[in-house]
Amino acid sequence: MKPQPLKGFRDFLPPDAIKRQFVIGKIKEVFERFGFDPLETPALEYAETLLGKYGDEADKLLYLFEDRGGRRVGLRYDQTVPASRVVAQYQHQLPTPFKRYQIQPVWRAENPQRGRFREFLQCDADIFGSDSALADAEVIALAAETLRFLGVPNVRILLNDRTLFGNAPPAAIATVDKLKKIGEVGVQRALEAKGFDASLLAAIRANKPSPRLAEVIGNAAALGVARESLVFEPTLARGLDYYTGVIFEIELGGYDAGSVCGGGRYDGLIGQFTGTDVPAVGFAFGFDRLMEALEQLNLLPAAQTATRVLVTVFSDEFLPRSLALTSRLRDNGINAEVPLETAKLDRQLKYADRKGIPFVVIAGPEEQKRGVVTLKNMRDKTQEEVALESVVEKLK
Ligand code: AMP
Repeated sequence: MKPQPLKGFRDFLPPDAIKRQFVIGKIKEVFERFGFDPLETPALEYAETLLGKYGDEADKLLYLFEDRGGRRVGLRYDQTVPASRVVAQYQHQLPTPFKRYQIQPVWRAENPQRGRFREFLQCDADIFGSDSALADAEVIALAAETLRFLGVPNVRILLNDRTLFGNAPPAAIATVDKLKKIGEVGVQRALEAKGFDASLLAAIRANKPSPRLAEVIGNAAALGVARESLVFEPTLARGLDYYTGVIFEIELGGYDAGSVCGGGRYDGLIGQFTGTDVPAVGFAFGFDRLMEALEQLNLLPAAQTATRVLVTVFSDEFLPRSLALTSRLRDNGINAEVPLETAKLDRQLKYADRKGIPFVVIAGPEEQKRGVVTLKNMRDKTQEEVALESVVEKLK
């Protein structure tokens, strides 16, 4: 059997996983700074929880199957629907408004291509239980601040309000939304092919921001979002059926593999579970696209390993000394390793090099005599003697 992951699914070896965890850490930090708490939900939901929430196109991309007990189940397609199920279920236990974030993988049976995977991570933040324009602005400001905190210099927040589409049918709006992908003539042809009036495109393009959207933009700017990054885009529709009000997508300057963030208001979704509507607004960062963009912008750390230092073992006789030093470094919060097999010093150094460990400590007989260790910097190939008591300080 050839060892390989499924098409559209990926492994992340430590150098990549380290970068991903670094970014996840930053995202959590900003989300929590805005008062959002973590939520986790299961990978599998009842099929009926997922079906009919996203629209026909998305329903076809659901991973649905029968489990061992004969239940119809499906893999989470996004976090919005599972979170809405949670809100419907625990309504009386949760604070109102309920502000939660969720960073978990989702699955879509898509055709894999650049920026499009079958398993990918989404980072969601949503506010349940508030229908204020300030709630809309708060999530937009949160998305913008997250990107600013990650060092992204150039963002465009495309905004629209779904109520501006009036009673145009969802299939027609979904066609207009393809403007960027298939162009003006493409949209007009597709509209006609589906039996709609091709002039709908021009009508939608002539829309002006709704009073609600204007208020949201004003609040977002007051919360610190650069005014020029907030752009009204009357043809923006977003792919999913559940949106009811203000919607938005974020594009990064110089990154063209699609939006890195999408969201909006969906006041009718929770009511689909309980019959009682709960207003809701939020967004998802498509984490993998964000990572690709950050890589392009050189905003990711270069570390290959979480280990900071390898404490070498000079010989069996010096093993206890190296172990004691390793233990002391670890106690002081320094990520430290010690070789697990007896090996020549150059083999130990080769391991450090291969793994990308930035520092190596050598504690042999010469060093012991003088009460020092040799500290080797593996990157610039320099070394110095450091007093045994000062190693911790030096490495911090
Ligand atoms: P959605 O849940 O469809 O609104 O998507 C939210 C965000 O997830 C998008 O802005 C993308 O960044 C990302 N995304 C959507 N589909 C995929 C996919 N197949 N692979 C990777 N990222 C995706």
